[in-house]
Amino acid sequence: MVMRCKTTWLGLMAFVAASVATAAALTLEGAITQGALVLGRTDSGARVVFDDRPVRVSDQGVFLIGFGRDAGGHAGLLISYPDGTETKRLLAVAKRDYRIQSIDAVPPRKVEPTPSDQQRIREEAQLVQQARRRDDSRPDFLSGFMWPVRGRISGVYGSQRILNGVARSPHYGIDIAASEGTAVVAPADGVVTLAHEDMFFSGGTLILDHGHGLSSSFLHLRRILVRLGQTVKQGETIAEVGASGRATGAHLDWRVNLFAKRLDPALVIEAIPARREATPLEPQ
Ligand SMILES: [Zn+2]
Repeated sequence: MVMRCKTTWLGLMAFVAASVATAAALTLEGAITQGALVLGRTDSGARVVFDDRPVRVSDQGVFLIGFGRDAGGHAGLLISYPDGTETKRLLAVAKRDYRIQSIDAVPPRKVEPTPSDQQRIREEAQLVQQARRRDDSRPDFLSGFMWPVRGRISGVYGSQRILNGVARSPHYGIDIAASEGTAVVAPADGVVTLAHEDMFFSGGTLILDHGHGLSSSFLHLRRILVRLGQTVKQGETIAEVGASGRATGAHLDWRVNLFAKRLDPALVIEAIPARREATPLEPQ
């Protein structure tokens, strides 16, 4: 009697261990909140569907999901493993409060573009959209993210802007105050997918693609120091801070997109921080 109980108990333990092993094949790094990036790790060969759309999974089982500024309620995540089992998660997306920011004294032409400005704006928007549609298998984002410039944060993600008293679309970047000519470094490994000297709104504009649809944009640059198609490493100097386009002063406006979805760069750094450089004295 005692023996039989023991056997059954051991059998149950083995079953529980197997279930745990399957469920543990999914980890999510990053906050489940508006504007956040989440780094997922699952089994190699698993398929991932997020919000009813397939998501690219690397050979090592790494994938990215993100939440837009106004993402609401719940988002569904479905992982299908090579052995036929599945994990379903319903992620509750935390809401944020966004700041309201008034900006006056913007030159009138920049507030109400002329018809020829509008044509130019449309063409430039297409170039940017094209760069953001890129879906490369390189998981460059695994280098982690660091600040491209160090300085006072003069504008945050998500804030509602009011220009000369007129409500405009929300601000999707982080503005970092820095003097003209300050070096901008690559926050993560990537490939240059757009290098434009002078866009109507954003002036000197650079886009770096970090793989899997994740890209960084750098706006209002004075100079761009890399070429289209160039591979860059994290920490490499890629541009100089400026005040080009519609900018009220020298600063870097850094944006991060997951395809068309706009993310908060500060949350991207939190989700995938740059790997700390190991010194010879520190054990790995
Ligand atoms: Zn900005």
